Amino acid sequence: MSSTSYQGQCLCGGVGLTVQPQAQSFFACHCNTCQTWTGGPQLSLSCGRNVEITGQEMVTEYKSSPWAIRAFCKQCGTHLYFKMRFSGEYNVPLGLLNIPKQQALTMAMQYFIDLKPDSYALDTDSPALTEAEVLDMFS
Ligand SMILES: [Zn+2]
Ligand SMILES: [Zn+2]
Repeated sequence: MSSTSYQGQCLCGGVGLTVQPQAQSFFACHCNTCQTWTGGPQLSLSCGRNVEITGQEMVTEYKSSPWAIRAFCKQCGTHLYFKMRFSGEYNVPLGLLNIPKQQALTMAMQYFIDLKPDSYALDTDSPALTEAEVLDMFS
């Protein structure tokens, strides 16, 4: 368990988050929902359930699947988190957090690698799971 804490805020400043990531690493997701939501792969940190949110009245949650909720600022549209509905655990976009540029976190995993469009590739040798492997893991 890491005790490092990071903060971030949306573009308009209406919403602020303080998180304690569970590891100094992040994951990439290439699934179709993330592609549509972000316009590319989604890079996120697992932050557990302990996320402090200010400006809650600006947060809109959208139920994107039976297992996840995605949230954004209703004024500026900044993506704030996706939350697992059953565990209540938050995953927060890497780029939303004020992580010092020189502090390189590790990419721990790429999910849904077989759904990744051929148009891009992430320059990493991190492990990757296919859709079938992800479904296996979480079923
Ligand atoms: Zn905002
Ligand atoms: Zn995804």
